[in-house]
Amino acid sequence: MATTTPRMKITYATLSADNEELQSAFDAAVERVRGVLGQSYPMLIGGEERRSADEFEDRSPIDRDIVVARFPVGTRQDVRDAIAAARAAFPAWRDLGWRQRLEILRNAADLISERQFEYAALMAFEVGKNRLEALGDVEETADLLRYYSDEMERNGGFVKPMGSLSPTEHTRSVLKPHGVWGVISPFNFPMALAGGPAAGALIAGNTVVLKPSSDAPLMGYKFGEALHEAGVPAGVFNFVTGPGETVGAELQESPDIDGLVFTGSYEVGMKLYTGFTRVYPRPIITEMGGKNPAIVTASADLDEAAEGVMRSAFGYDGQKCSANSRVYVERSVARPFVEKLAERARAIRVGDPTQRDNWMGPVINERSLAKFTTAVQEAKRDGGTIEAGGEVLAGPGTERGYFPTPTVVTGLPLSHRLFHDELFVPFVVVGEVDSLQQALDEANDTPYGLTAGIFSHDDDEIRSFLDTIQAGVVYVNRRSGATTGAWPGIQSFGGWKGSGSSGKSGLGPYYVQQFLREQSQTVMGEPPA
Ligand code: NAD
Repeated sequence: MATTTPRMKITYATLSADNEELQSAFDAAVERVRGVLGQSYPMLIGGEERRSADEFEDRSPIDRDIVVARFPVGTRQDVRDAIAAARAAFPAWRDLGWRQRLEILRNAADLISERQFEYAALMAFEVGKNRLEALGDVEETADLLRYYSDEMERNGGFVKPMGSLSPTEHTRSVLKPHGVWGVISPFNFPMALAGGPAAGALIAGNTVVLKPSSDAPLMGYKFGEALHEAGVPAGVFNFVTGPGETVGAELQESPDIDGLVFTGSYEVGMKLYTGFTRVYPRPIITEMGGKNPAIVTASADLDEAAEGVMRSAFGYDGQKCSANSRVYVERSVARPFVEKLAERARAIRVGDPTQRDNWMGPVINERSLAKFTTAVQEAKRDGGTIEAGGEVLAGPGTERGYFPTPTVVTGLPLSHRLFHDELFVPFVVVGEVDSLQQALDEANDTPYGLTAGIFSHDDDEIRSFLDTIQAGVVYVNRRSGATTGAWPGIQSFGGWKGSGSSGKSGLGPYYVQQFLREQSQTVMGEPPA
């Protein structure tokens, strides 16, 4: 399904889609992929396709009647076979050397970019992203492959000469791959968060077994397909599908896995984190949830703030780990800010996201929709005011999907659950504060710490925010997204506290090293070339 359409750079900060060439290329891709919806796909184990009579349906959140794809309900034995295949493929992949590995993986990046419209159209059906979000996700996957490859190259494959105690002694520090890594990915960046972590592991010389979210397996499969077409040898990348509780759990429990990288909820992540190292230490990277604050002070440009909050709270229905879901605004500007935000929320077009004019599509599944309706009921019950939204669409075109409206709530106490629990739906609570200090205290009063933003035009306030905010990615006066929009090589991405286990982060210069371990090599006499 390759396309010859020239690729276009779409990032999460791309604001407008008035490029007609882009629009018509995406529309054409939507029509083309309609013809392939509903197919059965296999798992990929040791370069072989593995099917099963027992399949699950990957249905579209836009319309439950649309079956996007069918995938095998994998078993623990399938996972064991995939791990064995990855282990068998490891020595040759490691010994290929990083320069050859990079050549293959950069080819994969180019293939993904060439196919950006097909992949993005399929993604729109699979997870309900609008066209810019879906194109951004695909292009980010390709950029992650490129950026991590560049980092490997910049660091010369991570071989560094060290000092010596005598002229005849030569010591160097070498970072080496561990072996087999499991990758467990979430639904919300179905290609970038399957592909990015897998890319980190592969570039470092490890082999991989990927288990995608059962809400979005097709994008993981397409990533694997691109890798194999680009020349990744059989067994280096394996792909298994099925429930987290069995297929995912086997990756955690298997003694034959050397490292695990997980992106998803705090609950599942912590279970994996505490269970993975029970017998002996093994590296595990967990990137988890967020309840990301934005602060609006009296010195803010309120249009800028309302725009930035709107984009981060409602972009992809608030289903980004970096989504903005709580705002602390100084009392003196609270009313005009809320009015501007509510007006923008009401202006958002919600509907089938494959259609050009719809900026917000559905949430991923019935469970998410129920979280939304419960939150609205709770806000009303506890004295909150619904300033915008609060409804679920059920008219023509939305009646078979999961379409909440962008919701702004005020009037709840700052201690309320809705200021603290991650909901992952288009629902933002706004609370009034008396000072920046109070806003910072509230912002930091969270078990999470992924992203945060401030809108202020006072240098002292901005300095105070940057000095004290506890989050991995922070933004100041960002109209295109108060707390969202990180891009490989531009901003890093990593969580503090319950948002992430690793001090080092994705999208930045310290990621690939996490998939490597250090060996100090001291050679007496001349070392081999
Ligand atoms: P989830 O935790 O429900 O699922 C993530 C993955 O874990 C899926 O593949 C799932 O099948 C698997 N899984 C579930 N139970 C498992 C088990 N017992 N053992 C092993 N694997 C298991 O998350 P989700 O709903 O797909 O994604 C949304 C969550 O991901 C949100 O909390 C969001 O904040 C977080 N997220 C974090 C980041 C980040 O970079 N920090 C990025 C994206 C999403």
